[in-house]
Amino acid sequence: MAEYILPLEKLIEQFRHLPGIGQKTAVRLAFAVLDFTDDEANAFANAIRGAKENVKTCSICQNISDGELCPVCADENRDRSVICVVEDAKAVMSIEKVREYTGVYHVLHGSISPMAGIGPDKLRIPELLSRLTADVREIIIATNPTVEGEATAMYLTKLIKPLGIKVSRLAYGIPVGGDLEYADEVTLMRALEGRRLM
Ligand code: ZN
Repeated sequence: MAEYILPLEKLIEQFRHLPGIGQKTAVRLAFAVLDFTDDEANAFANAIRGAKENVKTCSICQNISDGELCPVCADENRDRSVICVVEDAKAVMSIEKVREYTGVYHVLHGSISPMAGIGPDKLRIPELLSRLTADVREIIIATNPTVEGEATAMYLTKLIKPLGIKVSRLAYGIPVGGDLEYADEVTLMRALEGRRLM
């Protein structure tokens, strides 16, 4: 016999699909939903359906968008000669928050991971290559500092550099407020590689 009655069990199961949600939290969330009024429950269900139906990908940069173009690509003032390549839409939001970057983006929707069976063919790389016109002078590769992110950066560099376009990689290093003593070897190595003249 299941621990919970079937409709509740089904709801718990759905919450468990979400990242960072374990059994305990899923149970807590499912009980919270049970306490919803009918209107609240409908609003919740409609928000999920609406997000799935109305969030598309930008036809240029592949970022999530509610229209044909995302806000960045629709902005006339952005510098289209610099393209920052990221793994996902969350990275775009992080960089936009800094308000320092004036170029445009390209969202790959993942990174190369042979372990997970994700090859370059699963990423939005053809869409990126089709954007590399004579007007593009720099590609900033801002994939994550993980094994997959590095593999993706290497792959893209090999593809793009021969085209005569400058390829740069985000510098990674010691976090602000961090202590050298506690930095791991890879972080320290990256920080050394990414050092700059004062
Ligand atoms: Zn876009």
